[in-house]
Amino acid sequence: MPAKGTIVVNDLYCKGCELCVAACPPQVLALDMERLTPKGYHPAHIFKEGCTGCAICALVCPDAAITVYREVTKAAAAAEAGG
Ligand code: SF4
Ligand code: SF4
Repeated sequence: MPAKGTIVVNDLYCKGCELCVAACPPQVLALDMERLTPKGYHPAHIFKEGCTGCAICALVCPDAAITVYREVTKAAAAAEAGG
């Protein structure tokens, strides 16, 4: 099973450049045409399932607007805790 992740886009930094949209391997990113940032851009968002938490979007974002979260399974957490 592929890893699961999600991202949070900071509206104060995102300028809708779409670099993250182009870079996302499973292509789960798009600009949100129903929202505007305080600066007047459509921010990036996840529009469908399939984010793996690979963090490529965060790496390519020129404005460091993306924070990536990866889901930790119970098994992985137990392994890390030494149990
Ligand atoms: S973490 Fe990876 S899979 Fe998830 S939105 Fe970013 S580039 Fe796409
Ligand atoms: S790369 Fe960064 S600034 Fe560009 S659309 Fe994605 S989140 Fe917004």
